[in-house]
Amino acid sequence: MSEKIDLLPCPFCGCEDAGLHENVSMVDDNVSWSVDCNNCGASVIENTAEQAAEAWNRRAIVHESEKDARTGEWISHKERHNSARYIYYKCSECGYEDGYPPNYCPNCGAKMEVAE
Ligand SMILES: [Zn+2]
Ligand SMILES: [Zn+2]
Repeated sequence: MSEKIDLLPCPFCGCEDAGLHENVSMVDDNVSWSVDCNNCGASVIENTAEQAAEAWNRRAIVHESEKDARTGEWISHKERHNSARYIYYKCSECGYEDGYPPNYCPNCGAKMEVAE
């Protein structure tokens, strides 16, 4: 018996391109299930498909209720390592840093703008 499980849009980037995947451990053949966003790479992993979908949807709902309340800015700064230069983006709300700025902070969930 297989039921189609509905997935809510990605809690992080808001896209609807998320899918349920079965993962078999190469070590012990244990099966786990994950929901992965094909756009931003966010994922949740649980023991069963139902649990994974439920965890994903719970996160999306929490996010949905919070996202109008919280906004932040990605503050970019450049760093030099050897001869290469890197740009980092820092969340103005929680201080989370990343190499590129998604629409929502993966750490605190704030809706983000990129500061000039
Ligand atoms: Zn996403
Ligand atoms: Zn943040």
